[in-house]
Amino acid sequence: MRLILLGPPGAGKGTQAQRIQRKYDIVQLSTGDMLRAAKAAGTAIGREAAAYMDRGDLVPDDVVIGIIAERIEAPDCRNGFILDGFPRNEAQARALDDMLAERGLKLDVVIEIAVDEAVLLDRIETRRRESPDSVRPDDTAETLRTRLEVYHEQTAPLLPYYQSKGAFHRVDGMKSIDEVTEQIDEILSEISA
Ligand code: AMP
Repeated sequence: MRLILLGPPGAGKGTQAQRIQRKYDIVQLSTGDMLRAAKAAGTAIGREAAAYMDRGDLVPDDVVIGIIAERIEAPDCRNGFILDGFPRNEAQARALDDMLAERGLKLDVVIEIAVDEAVLLDRIETRRRESPDSVRPDDTAETLRTRLEVYHEQTAPLLPYYQSKGAFHRVDGMKSIDEVTEQIDEILSEISA
């Protein structure tokens, strides 16, 4: 099974992807996690990506497309994967279409985790105040604002893009983590049945 989780920063894509990964034995491919690992390891890619990430901007398309193209070839992806944080704009979505077509693979479903962003920002503010250590370095008020803007300008247009292709579902991301998982589970169990 191959799927994409879409939604703004803080919607809970990573948390849900980890749960799906365990339940359906498919791998979570988070470009954000991969880029953070590259940055921490000081690789050439990590050094190139760092400035963009620290500002909350998108890392250049060729970098992330290259990472995903290589990653989906790995043996652990044979059973399927969950794309978490990729694609983030139309160029990446088209590159993904090509990549899958070349390998004779198809996307089973795209799931949007829909949230109320004002509530989300409040949550992050509370977390920042109450447990500053749990907040990611790119969750400063400034970068978060940039990441949300980037989401609206570049990533949100992917919603109609995938809607028009079919196999698109929306879940209510304002529910509890468990309830969001249940909504996703319902969609996935239908597909895998
Ligand atoms: P995330 O953990 O998905 O919020 O990603 C953290 C940061 O990594 C983003 O703010 C971007 O700078 C970068 N990043 C992650 N995925 C992508 C992507 N698909 N395209 C461009 N930049 C990305």
